[in-house]
Amino acid sequence: MFKINENYQKLPGSYLFSTIAKKVAAYQQAHPDKKIIRLGIGDVTLPLVPAVIQAIHKAADEMGQAETFHGYAPDLGYSFLRETIAENDYKKLGCDIEADEIFVSDGAKSDCGNIQEIFSEDSRIAVCDPVYPVYVDSNVMAGRTGEYDAESGTWSNVIYMPCTAENGFVPELPKETPDLIYLCVPNNPTGTALTRDQLKVWVDYANREGAVILYDAAYEAYISDEDVPHTIYEIEGARTCAIEFRSFSKKAGFTGVRLGFTVVPKDLKCKDVPLHALWARRHGTKFNGAPYIEQRAGEAVYSEEGNRQVMEQVAYYKRNARVIYDGLKEAGYTVFGGVNSPYVWLKTEEMTSWEFFDYLLEYANVVGTPGSGFGPSGEGYFRLTGFGTYENTVEAVERLKALRKTGGGR
Ligand SMILES: *Cc1c(COP(=O)(O)O)cnc(C)c1O
Repeated sequence: MFKINENYQKLPGSYLFSTIAKKVAAYQQAHPDKKIIRLGIGDVTLPLVPAVIQAIHKAADEMGQAETFHGYAPDLGYSFLRETIAENDYKKLGCDIEADEIFVSDGAKSDCGNIQEIFSEDSRIAVCDPVYPVYVDSNVMAGRTGEYDAESGTWSNVIYMPCTAENGFVPELPKETPDLIYLCVPNNPTGTALTRDQLKVWVDYANREGAVILYDAAYEAYISDEDVPHTIYEIEGARTCAIEFRSFSKKAGFTGVRLGFTVVPKDLKCKDVPLHALWARRHGTKFNGAPYIEQRAGEAVYSEEGNRQVMEQVAYYKRNARVIYDGLKEAGYTVFGGVNSPYVWLKTEEMTSWEFFDYLLEYANVVGTPGSGFGPSGEGYFRLTGFGTYENTVEAVERLKALRKTGGGR
């Protein structure tokens, strides 16, 4: 009789988003006339920009002509895209990253979930708390995380690095040394970022301890502060300790197109073995390659027109986040994020994260995401996103302000 991978049995189930969906559906059914505004979404809502659509049409036409037809894509990505990325995302910033250190993929989620496969089974992981759930769950599936404690919502063999208002959402160096350190900058869910100086501490630490930083920069396009780096390779020493994940999803609205890339520098080695070679082997064996049409769409994001158009969309979402941040602050809430990020993170004060969720749903008909769903240190916080429409965002903020005055039913 076959046996299943017991590690999969340990996963507690996706409690967070299914519970939200159920609560919202039940409320809407009981109050069919109420307009619910959803600011819990972690997905873009604007359509693809014209430069991208043009590139998709052109590439589709090429696929229909014998001379320009493309079959299997190169495993690691077409060089036209890898060169464009190396030039625009790295060389222009003075970072020494070559096209052949860039692995094109279908997005950052799969790569940051799969990367752990090239590390030994007994690798110890450290994550920021609150955390993007993929980092932990992919390691649970690999059997690295020990036992789950439902009470605290933590795994016995994971190093949690609390990121709260008390430490300014900057993780502190852990007491026990991890092998793999997941950092997400700008951060989902807290909307906060690390400065160059703060990141340098981590790069130096990883090099000193022989750890690898797994750097998720899915929200890079949202950075506006001068002292927040756009890539970890802006930090001296990162080539020997860091892997970076990037995505076209939140930058160019590619969540339905699927495109991303991962950078593994050739200087990143374990004894004499370059991780680059391991990831190339893994990618070539288990990943189907991103489609030609989509890689052309990705290339268009870097054209002058394309870049201008996608950055207008990013600005739209950022304006929404700013409206939420400023409005809630004015109303007396304690708010964070919203500057280098589409996310605003606020304190729920005397309520728990879930009590606050219910309170907003009932008295303001606004949906957000309870912070406790992202990890124990998320308790007492709440995430709102800038991915709604501007009009709905403004209306939601007005409702929250009014609620703050009246206190709802309380
Ligand atoms: C949305 C998100 C991703 C997913 O990126 P895809 O390229 O769409 O797979 C990765 N990391 C974080 C932190 C995200 O919020």
